[in-house]
Amino acid sequence: MEPKAFGVQGINQEVNLSILREKRLTLVVKREDLLHPYISGNKYRKFKYNILEAKQRGLDTILTFGGAYSNHIAATAYAGNLYGIRTIGLIRGEELAQNWKLNPTLLRAHSHGMEFKFISREAYRRKTDTSFLELLKKEFGNCYLIPEGGTNLLAVKGCEEILTAQDRDFNILCSSVGTGGTLAGIINSSLNHQSIIGFPALKGDFLRKDIRNFTAKENWEINTDYHFGGYAKVSETLIDFINYFKESTNIPTDPIYTGKLLYGILDLVKNDYFKPGTKILAIHSGGLQGIAGMNLVLKRKNLPLIKV
Ligand SMILES: *Cc1c(COP(=O)(O)O)cnc(C)c1O
Repeated sequence: MEPKAFGVQGINQEVNLSILREKRLTLVVKREDLLHPYISGNKYRKFKYNILEAKQRGLDTILTFGGAYSNHIAATAYAGNLYGIRTIGLIRGEELAQNWKLNPTLLRAHSHGMEFKFISREAYRRKTDTSFLELLKKEFGNCYLIPEGGTNLLAVKGCEEILTAQDRDFNILCSSVGTGGTLAGIINSSLNHQSIIGFPALKGDFLRKDIRNFTAKENWEINTDYHFGGYAKVSETLIDFINYFKESTNIPTDPIYTGKLLYGILDLVKNDYFKPGTKILAIHSGGLQGIAGMNLVLKRKNLPLIKV
């Protein structure tokens, strides 16, 4: 039995910018961000089969991991509430135990029933060790465990449902990359004439290998030029771009993932990376819940804010 909320598809919205007409390119954004206000974009895809699996195994608690502004934590809390499953979030950073109520992502996750355990960065690094997981089992009982970022085999299977028959004419498919689960799902469901470009939102060489764990296909590449210094790192250039893109296309993007993705695609367009006539599909994987938290950080640093 499928939970009622699952089964919708993101609509495709064409981007009208003069640079695209000038270069004779088509750019369409798949609005997976509109699937749901809190379980948005790829996190919604990643949950579908995991929730079904947890229910099938008779487990009533999901335990997972994340940072303070994590879209995955926000989505887990909401989905748990929606489907009657208890959720526990192991959150990176002991200091948050005192001031998590100042964090909009955690505050909302709490209001959706998530219980928190705040752990040190050192402990957090051991999050996949068997000994650490055994301790958690002792503390919280038999839980359904979802890794950081929500990526596992069932998550990739869910992400294979992002593309539909109407996407078959696109030559290039672009997506933001965190753990690579979403990209792997897109690669698996792509057609052989399509090329996929992943834009990592963080630094690191591990991603290609991680993605190969989930796909056997070869029609993809990773572009590491647009992480803006690393995970959750932003600059004034990026914020200005996010505000410009929203104003000129009416499509909001987030500062961690999709803003960097669209910035990267349009920079490649500007530099004639794509042949005239190319049809590009960009997956908007959501993440808009993170804007409020990022704006608090930007305000503290006296940087311009993301307009909402
Ligand atoms: C989590 C997330 C990603 C990264 O997805 P992965 O499957 O971990 O690569 C991309 N975009 C948004 C908005 C996300 O929340």
